[in-house]
Amino acid sequence: IRSELDHVERLTLVGQMAAGITHEIRNPMAVVRGFLQLMREKSTPDMDSYYQIVMDELDRANSIITDFLSLAQSGISSKEDSNLHDVIEELAPLLWADANLRGQIVELKLCDSLPVLRLNVKEIKQLVLNLGRNAMEAMDPKGVLTLETRCESGKVELLVRDTGSGMSETELEKMFIPFFTTKDQGTGLGLPLCLSIVERHGGAISVDSSAGAGTVFIVSFPYETKEKATYAEA
Ligand code: ADP
Ligand code: MG
Repeated sequence: IRSELDHVERLTLVGQMAAGITHEIRNPMAVVRGFLQLMREKSTPDMDSYYQIVMDELDRANSIITDFLSLAQSGISSKEDSNLHDVIEELAPLLWADANLRGQIVELKLCDSLPVLRLNVKEIKQLVLNLGRNAMEAMDPKGVLTLETRCESGKVELLVRDTGSGMSETELEKMFIPFFTTKDQGTGLGLPLCLSIVERHGGAISVDSSAGAGTVFIVSFPYETKEKATYAEA
């Protein structure tokens, strides 16, 4: 008997396994977290720094699991006619709150007459959040994060610009490799996930960065020009 799974079936299976394992790992971790909290109440003050380390590491493990799950489940995705600006405007308050805590600013520069795009909205939110968070993490207080859209014939571009540290040659070379990170609390899964989301939308992602001068990530989404009659409301 030949038993072959086609590409899509295999991807779905990997996604389901990842979801199962994630669940099985997260449950005991939640229990550990809960008992740690109880132990802390009875511990001596000099244990506080140990407690913080253990909590931080638990949180880090949790983010790795979350990001890895998103990556593993990225087999097939359904898309709908969407307005990219609606997605950005829905996310903006989240980014503003984050930036506010850091003393940073978020600006939106959205183009007029945006065409309708076929998007998986959940994934695009994750994309913008990941790029936005990276931008904020690269900036000092007073840094400015700009989300910009450009509408050209045949493609829509989303630019995520920061006034941060910029990227070294090594970072530019390795940023899409899973688990590559330069941060103590990083997972190194954010950009690989962004890349896989962009590819699933038939788009492309490029970076313009120089050390010290900030970074701009440019995501371009193609669309059918013959459908130019359908414009999203600005
Ligand atoms: P993480 O954020 O967990 O480190 P990512 O995959 O999101 O993982 O990013 C990988 C690495 O790329 C980061 O650790 C950082 O070195 C670099 N990087 C990504 N975005 C930026 C940015 N906007 N400015 C400077 N460096 C960046
Ligand atoms: Mg990141």
